[in-house]
Amino acid sequence: MIDFKELESIIKDYNSFLLTTHVNPDADAIGSEIALYLILKKLGKNVKIVNHHATPYNLVFLDTDKVIEKYDPEKHKSIFDEADVLVALDFNRSDRMVSMQKAFNNSKKLKICIDHHQDAEDFADKYFMDTDYCATGHILFDFIKQTKIVPLTYDIANPVYAAIMTDTGSFRFERTTPELHKIAAELLETGVVPGDVYDKIYDQSRFSKIRLLGKALESIKLYGTDEKISYMILTQNDFKDSDAIESDTDNFVNFCLSIENVVMGLLFLELKQGFKVSFRSKGKIPVNKLAQEFGGGGHINASGARIHNGKLNDYVSTILKKAEEYLKLN
Ligand code: 5GP
Ligand code: MN
Repeated sequence: MIDFKELESIIKDYNSFLLTTHVNPDADAIGSEIALYLILKKLGKNVKIVNHHATPYNLVFLDTDKVIEKYDPEKHKSIFDEADVLVALDFNRSDRMVSMQKAFNNSKKLKICIDHHQDAEDFADKYFMDTDYCATGHILFDFIKQTKIVPLTYDIANPVYAAIMTDTGSFRFERTTPELHKIAAELLETGVVPGDVYDKIYDQSRFSKIRLLGKALESIKLYGTDEKISYMILTQNDFKDSDAIESDTDNFVNFCLSIENVVMGLLFLELKQGFKVSFRSKGKIPVNKLAQEFGGGGHINASGARIHNGKLNDYVSTILKKAEEYLKLN
C-alpha cells in the first residue's frame, strides 16, 4: 500500500506512463484515466491510455483530445516495454483487462493500482486502495488537493465530476456524504455544469438502446418465496433485433430495484461467448460475495461476473437459487 506522498514521488521520478482500465469502461474508469492523464501531461510526462474496449459513445466527450486507444496486440506490442510505469485504474483484478491481461502481467515494469473496490488480487507492485472512496475519480480529487501536484482546473474537474456522479448513482448511494457534496461544490466552482455532464452520459441514448431497454423490461420477472428478487434476461437475439451493444445495458439492472419490495436485482446478458451477470442489492446484502461465487466481484451493493465458457440457460436457475440464500444476510 502506498500513500499520496509516495504516489506523488513515483509520478515525479518516472517519465512515461501507460494507463489502463477495466472491460466495459464506465465514467469512473474513463474519467479517472483522463484526469490522471492530464495531471501527468501537465508535469511534462509521456502518457498513453490503452483499454481493452473502445470508449462507449456516451463517454467519448470526456476524452476531449481523443487520446484513448483501443488495445490491438499487434499495434501495441511494445507499449508495455516503452512505459516506465503501468497504472491500473478502477479495477483490482487482472482478468478485468481481458485481452491486455497477459501482456500486463508479463511486463516487468513498475505496476501501480489505484482503485476503490474490495477483494484485490495481487497483480501490481504498489496499491493505492481504499474502499471508503466512492469512486476512483474521488481518490484522484483527494490526491490533487492533498499534494497540490497540479491546480484543480476545469479540464480535470469535469472528468472527476463525471466519475463521482456516476459511481454514486447521481449522488444517492451510501457514500454520498456531506464531504462529497463539498467536493462536488468545488468541482462546480471550476466551471463544471452538472446538467451538461448528466445529459451527455444518460440523456443522449441511441434509439437502439431504448429499444433494448424495452426488451429488458419486457423480460423482467420476480423470484423467490417473498418475491424480493427481480431479474432480466437479454439474449444475443435481443441485441441483434434492437441493433444495440453491451455497453447500452448500463443501468438497466436498476429497474429491477425500482420495484416495491424487491431488494436484489440481476441482469443476465448473453454474450457472443459466454454470459455476464450484473448484481445489485439494497441494504446489507453483499452481492460482491454472491458474484465471487461465480468468479466475479465488485462492491457490496453492485457487482458483476462474467462466465466466458458457459451457456446462460444452464446457469440462470443456479444463480437465482444462490441469490436467494443471500437475502438472509440483509
Ligand atoms: P456492472 O454490473 O455495472 O457491470 O458492474 C458493477 C460492478 O461490479 C463494477 O463496478 C465492478 O466493480 C464489478 N464487476 C462487474 N463485472 C465484474 C467481473 O466480471 N469481475 C469482477 N471482479 N468485478 C466485476
Ligand atoms: Mn469505480
